[in-house]
Amino acid sequence: MAVRHVIIIGPPGSGKGTQAMRVADKLDLKHLSTGDLLREAVSEGTELGKKAEEYMKAGLLVPDEIMLGLIREQLDVLEGGGWMLDGFPRTLPQAETLAELLAGKDLAIDMVLLIDVESEEIVGRLTSRRVCGDCKAVYNLSMLPDGDESVCEKCGGKLVTRPDDREETVRRRLKVYEEQTAPVLDFYRKLRGVTEVTGSGDIDEITAEIIRGRR
Ligand code: AMP
Repeated sequence: MAVRHVIIIGPPGSGKGTQAMRVADKLDLKHLSTGDLLREAVSEGTELGKKAEEYMKAGLLVPDEIMLGLIREQLDVLEGGGWMLDGFPRTLPQAETLAELLAGKDLAIDMVLLIDVESEEIVGRLTSRRVCGDCKAVYNLSMLPDGDESVCEKCGGKLVTRPDDREETVRRRLKVYEEQTAPVLDFYRKLRGVTEVTGSGDIDEITAEIIRGRR
């Protein structure tokens, strides 16, 4: 069966964004990341961005009513063909609303994918992540010859720590994930089953495992 409608879920720092991009590309699905949409809105200073920014910086979820408005603006994508939803739904009300939206359009989810990584590994990964302030390329501190003094090798931009990658904020994001997003997994386990993949190890192998495990 062709897999056309996929939801990818994982704790912050599990690599879900990276895997979502790679798998969407291989399966020819449109990659829809609510985190990317929000970050874009923040950098453009739109009304949505202004409302979302403080929550994101603090490592909290953006309120459901804002997120539901955002996903309703993406209905043309949901109706338009194959998609990979990355970062949505993240709460039970979001999952329930998505189920209603899809049922109303006679669309079904083909696969729910969980990328799982142990909490302490995540703290290590995220606190050592640096991003280019200009082109958004992602680095790990351990790969940077001059540590925090390094510049982006793609565009020469200044490397920064994302505000939500500070240790205290990472721990808060993990707690939020356990409290608010883990119930979404139970919702899908009951509804249709969840394909679980470990997010530790080689990036290419993880992608291959996802592609092999699709159902
Ligand atoms: P991500 O890139 O998916 O880790 O998302 C970055 C941040 O955007 C999250 O920590 C939340 O603050 C916010 N965010 C993204 N998607 C959602 C969502 N579905 N519900 C609430 N907040 C979200």
